[in-house]
Amino acid sequence: MSQETETPLPDNDQPPIQIMVIPVTAFQQNCSLVWDPKTKAGAVIDPGGDVPTIRKAIEEQGVTVEKIVLTHGHIDHVGGAADLAAELGVPVEGPHEADRMLIERVADQARQFGVSEAKPVEPDLWLVDGDTIEMAGRTFQVLHCPGHAPGHVVFFDPELRFAFSGDVLFAGSIGRTDLPGADHATLIASIKEKLLPLGDDVSFLPGHGPASTFGHERESNPFLR
Ligand SMILES: [Zn+2]
Ligand SMILES: [Zn+2]
Repeated sequence: MSQETETPLPDNDQPPIQIMVIPVTAFQQNCSLVWDPKTKAGAVIDPGGDVPTIRKAIEEQGVTVEKIVLTHGHIDHVGGAADLAAELGVPVEGPHEADRMLIERVADQARQFGVSEAKPVEPDLWLVDGDTIEMAGRTFQVLHCPGHAPGHVVFFDPELRFAFSGDVLFAGSIGRTDLPGADHATLIASIKEKLLPLGDDVSFLPGHGPASTFGHERESNPFLR
């Protein structure tokens, strides 16, 4: 099951990036396959599970996946990362090391949420605030946005005015803060101090549900009043 999203910029000859959303796991998490339409080189963001579905999308689009990128350590985002990384022979980058505990205890998360076994993954690179990360031929800024998970990171492309926000901010909602290591005030601070200042015009694709813009959320999101 998959759906193609609109690219963040209007079509010229070729869009600057292609993004295909692949909903995975019982949580319908937005795993994203992103690639450079010129070179077909790309990355998989948050392969939470359903690895065969992700592999099929990669094959159908003819993308050469160079890396797996993780926003945070919850099972619906990392559950398939170890298997996919092994099958593709690619490195795993992110999240921030503050999520090490969550990732190491991914089997406990599987039990807690009643989903099938998930293997812990050992990221090749932990990210910190201010890092940059190469994906799909583009350079994304790394923003450390704790609150939903202590090591949550968001990826922002300033030229495209586009961000992958994981479970920090959703269209009309915010990430839950009733899980271990979560904190409501910290999450609100991450959104108000790190994300919204990037600009009202910035579009974002969250870890669940539809895309939105920071401007729309600043004005209408009931959690940000
Ligand atoms: Zn989460
Ligand atoms: Zn999630």
